[in-house]
Amino acid sequence: MTCDFLPLAAPGVRTLQPYQPGKPESELRREYGLSEIVKLASNENPLGPSPKALVAVREALNGLARYPDGNGFDLKTALSARLNTPMATLTLGSGSNDVLELAARAFLTPAHEAVFSEHAFAVYPIVTQAIGATARIAKAYPPDHAMPYGHDPAAILKLINDRTRIVFIANPNNPTGTWLKTAELQALLAAVPESVIVVVDEAYGEYVEADADCPNALRWLDRFPNLIVTRTFSKAYGLAGLRVGYAVSHPQVADLLNRVRLPFNVNSLALVAATAALDDLDYLERSRTLNRAGMRQLQTACRTLGLTWLPSVGNFLCVNVGRPGREVFVELLKRGVIVRPVDNYGLPDFLRISIGSQAENARFIEALGAVLKG
Ligand SMILES: *Cc1c(COP(=O)(O)O)cnc(C)c1O
Repeated sequence: MTCDFLPLAAPGVRTLQPYQPGKPESELRREYGLSEIVKLASNENPLGPSPKALVAVREALNGLARYPDGNGFDLKTALSARLNTPMATLTLGSGSNDVLELAARAFLTPAHEAVFSEHAFAVYPIVTQAIGATARIAKAYPPDHAMPYGHDPAAILKLINDRTRIVFIANPNNPTGTWLKTAELQALLAAVPESVIVVVDEAYGEYVEADADCPNALRWLDRFPNLIVTRTFSKAYGLAGLRVGYAVSHPQVADLLNRVRLPFNVNSLALVAATAALDDLDYLERSRTLNRAGMRQLQTACRTLGLTWLPSVGNFLCVNVGRPGREVFVELLKRGVIVRPVDNYGLPDFLRISIGSQAENARFIEALGAVLKG
């Protein structure tokens, strides 16, 4: 008997392309028998987790037979104090991807549309299509723009109509690294009708330097009640493996997100680790300093190799390798270096490199030099 379940799947799911994660080290080890592997493929923190988070996790291990606090009281209390926002504005998620999906489930239906840019983060089309809603893709800025391949607010606004329920903005965007500057994002928020939810995804917010003019969108929550700002502990806070992120929004929006949230979506180790990491300001500062130095190291090396890159305020750099990025990616794999091809994001000649430790960056630079020469 032959089975065909495809016609049984929900319409949006039939054509859905699954998220392609960075290649895990263990997989490269299995495939190539390599031992010394450098992974700069998923924008993880090269420092590892905060020591304070590790202590908190060890202390929480004996409590694993219990369900976590389904309301995340301690973490919300800490976030509320740090961000100066009422507890009722906070929604916790298993990573911020979870929160992005909550927004889609709370506001989208098959009759509605979500708008986001070309080259934007891959989770937006997934959560939109999985609901059966329609994704409307705005043209990005052209390659010769000051913010090449970046979000174009005018193109986004043009796609908004009566069916639009959500606009997704990644600021800065992954994989490009580009961002909307303060005046640009503020003008966009002001131009979007109040009946359209705007999700500003600030997964890399902690890395942004003041002189970049890349805004912290929390400042606009009072002014724009249709705004949802999402953040994560996966990047600068070094807890990608535990899965914890959050949204800040109008309390009524938070209440709606909470209605579709599954019980206990954030596990108990993630809750205590995030609470402790939030308190480790020294670790956060070291993460930022390491990133700044690594960014300089990578850009200097790219310049020496005659390569260009996209502007970035994140912990990664999107580099034009001047030939199919996927080929360079495979050659780097053979040398034990994992980076991220971004052809699936419409950037076939680019590779996205996460900023690693000084030594990891040096390994990548050496391998890239060899590949490009060979
Ligand atoms: C990494 C990333 C996230 C965060 O994912 P988590 O689920 O929190 O690990 C969200 N948005 C963007 C743009 C990202 O790059």
